[in-house]
Amino acid sequence: MPIQIPEKPAAALAALHKAGIGAWVVGGAVRDSLLERPVSDWDLTAACQPEQLLAALPQAKPIGGVYGTVSWHGVEITPCRKEEGYTDNRHPDHVTFDADIRSDLARRDFTVNAIAYDGQIAIDPYHGHLDLQERLLRCVGEPKKRFAEDALRILRLYRFAGVLDFSIEEQTNAAALALAHTLATVSAPRVRGELNKALNGARPSALTPLIAAGGLEAFAIPSQKLVQQPEQLAVLDRIPNTMLCRWWAFLRLTGADTQAAAKVFDFGRGFVRDMARLDALYAAGCPQDIHALKLLLMEQPPFPPEDAFAAFAAMDSGFAKLPQMYQDLLVSREPYQKQHLRITPAELLVEGIPGRKIGKVQECLVKAVVDTPSLNVYPTLAQMAKGLKKVL
Ligand code: ATP
Ligand code: MG
Repeated sequence: MPIQIPEKPAAALAALHKAGIGAWVVGGAVRDSLLERPVSDWDLTAACQPEQLLAALPQAKPIGGVYGTVSWHGVEITPCRKEEGYTDNRHPDHVTFDADIRSDLARRDFTVNAIAYDGQIAIDPYHGHLDLQERLLRCVGEPKKRFAEDALRILRLYRFAGVLDFSIEEQTNAAALALAHTLATVSAPRVRGELNKALNGARPSALTPLIAAGGLEAFAIPSQKLVQQPEQLAVLDRIPNTMLCRWWAFLRLTGADTQAAAKVFDFGRGFVRDMARLDALYAAGCPQDIHALKLLLMEQPPFPPEDAFAAFAAMDSGFAKLPQMYQDLLVSREPYQKQHLRITPAELLVEGIPGRKIGKVQECLVKAVVDTPSLNVYPTLAQMAKGLKKVL
């Protein structure tokens, strides 16, 4: 098994083994290692009570919660547990810690997430390694039951399908879609967290069946548009992979109302403002020539224009020329923003422009050099600024 366990988690495993406690790396770390993908966090599980964990790892700190998780030098270790109940479609009613590793793996969502590795031997009761080879997502146990226990798993399913570029086993898919509406019981922050991960992945269009089945309707993402045009979301896979561009395109392609989604997911004010700027640039249409492009960019956007323009070109062939046009503009080194002026605010002050007028003067100078780039030389700009001082 080609799993290279880094120093800290390896040391935690060794300390627990030395104390006579069974301990394993589990979940995403095993899955991603076997897929030779970068591992984001190394989660460990140990077959003992929470108190024994603290006794075996004296510097470990409990990180709260009902699951007895401790953190040891940044490694999270959770006692093996059994879960029962789930009357709220999300959390177990009872958690017991007298579990062995096999019961712990039984509570996990998908076979590829239910492999444990102790540094030497893998425990894989659900044949997750075979599903990894097949690139297939399959529930541990009976899919309907597992999704009814915790509706968040439904969204995780399509998130993993997109991020890992996996297919979904038939019964797992059918059960997830049949219960798609139960996602409404999950909190908006959890849904947003999963959507962030899905949108950040290679194939966010994997969300299509879930959305078309109405799974995100309770979160202001309508199903109708994707029911009519399921292929629509494929565009999203070609949008530059930034949170802003992907969310912006996601909301447009699903026909969501940005304001409503911003409220549901509690987007920050800056994020909403940046999306509005993208909307405005998009609504302006593709500039006809470099001069029109310069006018559009006079006020510096709060995001890299190349990302926005690549996104527009993916969304609408009417913008196909724009990415190249922007490259041509950069190569031309023509001025179109305040910071391109060959006179600085400090130099304007020296030339006798009062501080309170500098912003306005710069704006006028930018407009002038956008039309006539050859004006962008210090003496000309200084002279123009003095003239402007009188009229502004
Ligand atoms: P990533 O960290 O890349 O998001 P992950 O698989 O590590 O992926 P985590 O949310 O970190 O996901 O969870 C760690 C492990 O805990 C999972 O691999 C899975 O075994 C289990 N798990 C997490 N959430 C659930 C859930 N809702 N139901 C069942 N098991 C879960
Ligand atoms: Mg993880």
